[in-house]
Amino acid sequence: MCFRNDRITISPVVDSLVWANSRDGRVSCKTAYSQFLRDIPQVVWWRDVWSRFIPHSRSALTWRLMLNRLPTEDLLCRSGFQLASRCSICGVSSESADHLFLHCPLAVALWEAVFSAFQRRVSTETWQSFFL
Ligand SMILES: [Zn+2]
Repeated sequence: MCFRNDRITISPVVDSLVWANSRDGRVSCKTAYSQFLRDIPQVVWWRDVWSRFIPHSRSALTWRLMLNRLPTEDLLCRSGFQLASRCSICGVSSESADHLFLHCPLAVALWEAVFSAFQRRVSTETWQSFFL
């Protein structure tokens, strides 16, 4: 026998918790970990960063930069720290990973010098244009 309300249907079947990401409806470490891995975007450039020819400290810096996990002042401010965020190099703009590595005048000059050695031009507007 079922009782029906306008918005709620009451069924005689006992409610139970069901994990939708497994066949049997039960949660396990394996199914939870598989779901966790599915939600992580695939990083295709990790082999280039974690090469044995690159010092580990440089790989770690690049990895954190690409994932926007460097402890720059803009991220620290978003985490609740009270900082007057200014670039410690140029003092003009707020300190962010994009500014430090792409937009800061020193970074722009450095990238232009590096790329001119290879007779190439570089756009430092965005990371996407940088790698094209
Ligand atoms: Zn700067």
